[in-house]
Amino acid sequence: MSRSVLVTGGNRGIGLAIARAFAETGDSVAVTHRSGEAPEGLFGVRCDITDPEQVEQAYKQVEEEQGPVEVLVANAGITRDQLLLRMSEEDFSAVLETNLTGTFRVVKRASRGMLRARRGRIVLISSVVGLLGSAGQANYAASKAGLVGFARSLARELGSRNITCNVVAPGFVDTDMTRALSEEQRAGIVAQVPLGRYAEPAEIAAAVRFLASPEAAYITGAVIPVDGGLGMGH
Ligand code: NDP
Repeated sequence: MSRSVLVTGGNRGIGLAIARAFAETGDSVAVTHRSGEAPEGLFGVRCDITDPEQVEQAYKQVEEEQGPVEVLVANAGITRDQLLLRMSEEDFSAVLETNLTGTFRVVKRASRGMLRARRGRIVLISSVVGLLGSAGQANYAASKAGLVGFARSLARELGSRNITCNVVAPGFVDTDMTRALSEEQRAGIVAQVPLGRYAEPAEIAAAVRFLASPEAAYITGAVIPVDGGLGMGH
């Protein structure tokens, strides 16, 4: 079974691991990248998800290459950490614009083909921080919590057309995003994780691939934590 899969922000980190996981099992996988080159062996389209025109163009290219998107993984995201009193309007809106509005944009465009086909899988990459909160990340946590309400609304809206919409909420994963933290911050985080370590990007990819598999056909509107136990109870 080869499906048309699109992963946003699939040129590095968690998105790249997700794209490789789908490609390994024979799916046709496209990734979006903002700059640089597409990763080797994957079909890349240049796209900044904050620009509606670029999103439209990216979908056209993907559809031409591998047909309408059947599995969408909305993974692209950014942080702009700052304590509330120092957080500018720009810091807040840039994070919301990428993580929440950008996701709305790519999901809306993918749903068109899925509604027509009467099937589809949508997986949104949120974060444990969206449920737990995090000092210095009010913008990021708000955007990631927003994805949960967004996904659950779509689960209700699109369910009758055999389209599922789920959220994966990773804990701390070893990528460029977390490599930006100091050694002290990293040690502090690990001390709070029951499994006592960061996740590998492939461990997030495994949950995403499961949600897109036939075995997960009856799962929708779910939030699946992949966080080493950090967010237990939420
Ligand atoms: P990285 O910073 O390593 O990668 C982020 C990806 O998103 C890059 O591919 C980047 O593209 C892309 N991206 C950012 N902004 C845009 C945009 N406007 N348009 C298109 N693409 C964009 O992050 P991770 O791999 O760590 O994170 C991936 C997702 O997982 C994010 O949504 C993040 O919030 C979430 N997450 C990460 C955790 C972690 O611990 N790392 C924990 C929980 C959630 P480019 O290369 O062009 O910049």
